[in-house]
Amino acid sequence: MKKPMKWIEKMREAREARAYTQSGLLRRAEENAAPGGVTPEGFLGRDARRLGHIIRADEMEFQNLGLDWEKTADILDDLLLRGSAGLGDAVTLGGFLVRVSETRGSFPCPWEDGLYRKRSASVIRLVDGQRHGEEILISDLGIHLLRAHHFLQGKGSPFRLEPQALKNLLLGAKGN
Ligand SMILES: [Zn+2]
Repeated sequence: MKKPMKWIEKMREAREARAYTQSGLLRRAEENAAPGGVTPEGFLGRDARRLGHIIRADEMEFQNLGLDWEKTADILDDLLLRGSAGLGDAVTLGGFLVRVSETRGSFPCPWEDGLYRKRSASVIRLVDGQRHGEEILISDLGIHLLRAHHFLQGKGSPFRLEPQALKNLLLGAKGN
């Protein structure tokens, strides 16, 4: 008769299976995020770091800046959604100027967990009615990458969301 597995062995086995799955997923996402993966340009810009390294560095910076992933994603989602009412014209939304553009079709997420509209928006903070700080480019996929994967894209990618730039931008949002 086969000896029953000890609980400690069961736990170790489960942990190894999880680790394998996580690193497998990350490896797959890294391939998909490279140029010619799920999009011709890819998501890594000129960043030579590994995908996991980019994510860990940005997680640390988010923590240092006191930024919250969910809250940041909610604010950007809301700006993209309400900015869409401008139908391509710039609209003032609270402390922000937002211009949304959309082309037909969709992009798949490099993690292969969904398809996202090709909708993007330039967002800039307004202080006393004047443009203030850097303009930020957001998109449906970019916000999903931020929320679900803590991936802000590689340095040099046009849609890279620098934590410091996000922090400066969100100072214009209520309650920040
Ligand atoms: Zn995803």
